[in-house]
Amino acid sequence: MADRFDVVVAGAGHNSLVAAAYLAKAGLRCVVLEHRSVAGGNCVTEELTLPGFWHDSCASAHVIIQDSPLIRNDELGLSEMFEYIYPDVVVHLPFPDGSYLTQYRDLDRTVEQFAKFSKKDAVAYRRMMMDYESIKPIFDAVTYTPIGFGKPVNDRLAEHPDGKKWLRRSAQSAWEIIRDNFEDDHCRSFMMWMAFQTVVPPEWPTTGRNAYSLCYGRQRWSWCVPKGGSGAFTGALVKVIEAHGGVVLTDKSVGGLIVEGGKCVGVECADGSRYRADKAVLSTVHIKHLVDMAPREAWGEDFIDGVSTWQAGPTLFVTHLATSEAPRVMGDDGEYSPIAIGTMSTATRGLRMGYDYALGMPNTEDPVLLAVCPTVADPSRAPPGKHTLKIIGFQPYELVQGPEHWDAVKEQVADANLAHLRRFAPNLTPDKILSRVVESPLDLERMNPHNWHGSCHGGAQNAAQSGALRPMPGYAQHRMPIPGLYQTGGTTHPGGSISGGPGRNAAAVMLKDLGHNLDEIVARGRTQTRRLESVK
Ligand SMILES: Cc1cc2nc3c(=O)[nH]c(=O)nc-3n(C[C@H](O)[C@H](O)[C@H](O)COP(=O)(O)OP(=O)(O)OC[C@H]3O[C@@H](n4cnc5c(N)ncnc54)[C@H](O)[C@@H]3O)c2cc1C
Repeated sequence: MADRFDVVVAGAGHNSLVAAAYLAKAGLRCVVLEHRSVAGGNCVTEELTLPGFWHDSCASAHVIIQDSPLIRNDELGLSEMFEYIYPDVVVHLPFPDGSYLTQYRDLDRTVEQFAKFSKKDAVAYRRMMMDYESIKPIFDAVTYTPIGFGKPVNDRLAEHPDGKKWLRRSAQSAWEIIRDNFEDDHCRSFMMWMAFQTVVPPEWPTTGRNAYSLCYGRQRWSWCVPKGGSGAFTGALVKVIEAHGGVVLTDKSVGGLIVEGGKCVGVECADGSRYRADKAVLSTVHIKHLVDMAPREAWGEDFIDGVSTWQAGPTLFVTHLATSEAPRVMGDDGEYSPIAIGTMSTATRGLRMGYDYALGMPNTEDPVLLAVCPTVADPSRAPPGKHTLKIIGFQPYELVQGPEHWDAVKEQVADANLAHLRRFAPNLTPDKILSRVVESPLDLERMNPHNWHGSCHGGAQNAAQSGALRPMPGYAQHRMPIPGLYQTGGTTHPGGSISGGPGRNAAAVMLKDLGHNLDEIVARGRTQTRRLESVK
C-alpha cells in the first residue's frame, strides 16, 4: 500500500473518524491509524463477555449528537447505514423510600411524575424545558462552530431577549439552579442525577446549563441508542471514509511525529511503519502523550504549560454483564424493564460527587449509579431472551494507594454496585448473571490511551478547560504549535461525549486552511444525492 496520503489521522475515535469522513468527502486522501484492533475509541460495540453478547464497551447514549448538523442534516449520509432507537421510557430513578421518578419521552407524562411529589416542581420542570428550548439554538451553534469562527457565546447571549438570565445561569452551579427551582428532594435528586450525566459534579461553578441541557436532551431524544450498538455509528463512518478513497488501519499505535523543516509531515508507528502526509496530520492522541511525540522545543512554552496543567477530572467505573433477564423495577404499571436506571438517594448525596473523587478511595456506600440495558430496546445485541447490562459507577482513578490498587479492589466495588442495583431490581439474582467483565478507571485507560488517567472525556470539563481554554489558551482552534499538525477529540472544543463536535469543527478548520469550505462540501454532497435520486 502507498504510504503517502494527503492527511494522516492518528487515532480512530468517533471524532477523528467524523473529521476524516468530511476530509475524505472533500477529496482528500486520508489514512486513519488506530492503536486498538477495532476502530471507534470509546464508541465501539464488542463481544466482551460471552459469544453473541454485544456490549457497548463505553458509550451507549447518543443524545448530544442528535442536535449536531452531522445527524440533524444527515451531512454524511449515515442514515442509510444505521438507525437510532428512541425508547418511550427514558430513565427510571427509584428511591430508597420505595417511590420513583420516571422520565418519559412524552413531556406531559414526565411532568405528572414530578407532580406526584410536588405540583410546584412539576411546573418548574415544564418551565425549565421550555426556557431551554428558546436558548438552545445559541448553545448548539457555539458547540458546532470552531473557536474563533463565530461570535463567542456571551456575545450571542447578549443578543437574545433572555440572554442576561442565561449569562447568570451559565456562571452558576447546577446545584444552585436545582435547589432554587425545586422544593422536593426526590425531584431535586432526579435533576442532580441528570445534571451529572456528563460527569461534571453539579456543585462546580459554571455547570448551571447542565441543570437544563442534559434533562432537555433526554426529554427530547430519550436514551437513544444506535440499533446494533455504538459501533454501528463508527462502523458507518469508516464506510464513508473508505467510500471516498480513505483507509482505516487498526493495530497501528502512533509513537512519534515526523517533523521536517519545522513542519509536521507524518507519523511513525510503534511497529516502525511511517505514514507521510502531503497536506496535514490530524491527531486524537491525548495531549499528554502527543507532547512527547516531538522535541520539546517544537511546542513552545505556552503549549507545554497548558499540557502540564491539564486535569483529567472525574472518572468512571464500569461493570459489563451478560444476563438472562433485564433488571425489573416497580413502575406505574407494575414491574417493568426500562433501558436506563439511575440511583441517587438524595440531592445532597449528589453534592458529594466531587468530594468522593478528592478522597481517593472507592466509594461503595450509597453509590450513585447508571445502569443501561440496551437489549430492552434492541434485542439484536444478545441471544434471544438474553441481555447486556452495563452498570456505571463514579470512582476516582487516583486511589490513595495508587491507581494500580484498582486491580486488587475492583471486583469488590463491582459487587457493591450490583448489590445496590439489586435493592431496586431484586430479580437480578446471581443465577441471572451469566458472565461479567469489570473495568476500573485504570482499565479504561489501559483499553484506550486517550482515556488519560481514566478520564472518559479526555479531561475535566470545567471552566479552566472549556471553550477557548480547551486544550489551552491560544490553541483551541485545533491548530497545534507545529505547523501542519491539528488536534481533535475530547481534549478540544466542545469536549467529550458522543457529539461529533470536535471532529466536525476540526474538519472545518483544516478544510479552510487547505482551501476548501465545509459548508460547500456538504451542499455539494446533497446536490449529488438529489441528482442520483432523480436518475433512479
Ligand atoms: C464507560 C464510558 C461510558 C460513556 N458513556 C457515554 C455515553 O453514554 N454517551 C456519551 O455521549 N458519552 C459517553 N462517554 C464518553 C464518550 O464515549 C467519549 O467522550 C467519546 O467517545 C470520546 O471520543 P473521541 O473521539 O474524542 O476519543 P476516543 O473515543 O477516546 O478515541 C480516541 C482514539 O485514539 C486512539 N489512540 C490514542 N492514542 C493513540 C496512538 N498513540 N496511536 C493510535 N491511536 C491512538 C484510541 O485508541 C482511541 O481509539 C462514555 C465514556 C466512557 C469511558
